[in-house]
Amino acid sequence: MRLTVVGCSGSAPGPASPASCYLVEHEEFALLLDLGNGAFGALQAVLDPAMVDAVYLSHLHADHCLDVAPFVVWHRYSGRSDGRTVPLYAPVGADRRLATAYDPDGGPIDDVFGVTAIGAGSWAIGPFEVTTVRTAHPVECYAVRLDAGGRSLVYTGDTGPSADVVELARGADVLLAEAAHPDVPGLPDGLHLTGRQAGEHAAAAGVGRLLVTHVPAWVDADAQLAAARAVFPASELARHAGVYDI
Ligand SMILES: [Zn+2]
Ligand SMILES: [Zn+2]
Repeated sequence: MRLTVVGCSGSAPGPASPASCYLVEHEEFALLLDLGNGAFGALQAVLDPAMVDAVYLSHLHADHCLDVAPFVVWHRYSGRSDGRTVPLYAPVGADRRLATAYDPDGGPIDDVFGVTAIGAGSWAIGPFEVTTVRTAHPVECYAVRLDAGGRSLVYTGDTGPSADVVELARGADVLLAEAAHPDVPGLPDGLHLTGRQAGEHAAAAGVGRLLVTHVPAWVDADAQLAAARAVFPASELARHAGVYDI
């Protein structure tokens, strides 16, 4: 399994990276986890969009889904699509949300995407065994575990502290965990993790490695990493265009 970070800027695109988008490949199958603002541009530097086999959207906040709109433009007008619809897995309401993001009239985009509403559960996407749990976030959001070829990757999506996310990540090779909040007093519950909390989730789950991601451009990423490493030494920052063998 191979992970390529297409976008890792938290909460909004930043000067050094688009918003959330992760390409996961195994046995020639290309799965995108999230498609946030700016990601479709950067995606084209690493993969022909015609080669995207499926899309998984953790939730419908703008920084995780809005570049579905340029994907539709590309699919319809570039002349480079083979016309195949792309399976897209997302929380309930994605079809209307994404259609309206594309066009004010909200006309269907089912010529481009075959949308399946997800919940907490398990199913297969190509060669990946997929397992999801609801996270602690103001809108319906699902962390996802991908197992394939005896290896495993868990992506938190957006979440506050969550025992369910720890259970999902139990024994995973890599935990790709958000750490959007600096460690300051008065943080709201059920929104995001701090760097230290991301490290605590990795330690509690006994994962092999932690990739700290979704750090906003206005937060000190090195401080987020240092806080994670203080409790889980095998931590590193996810980097835009970084490639990680899992
Ligand atoms: Zn986010
Ligand atoms: Zn969010």
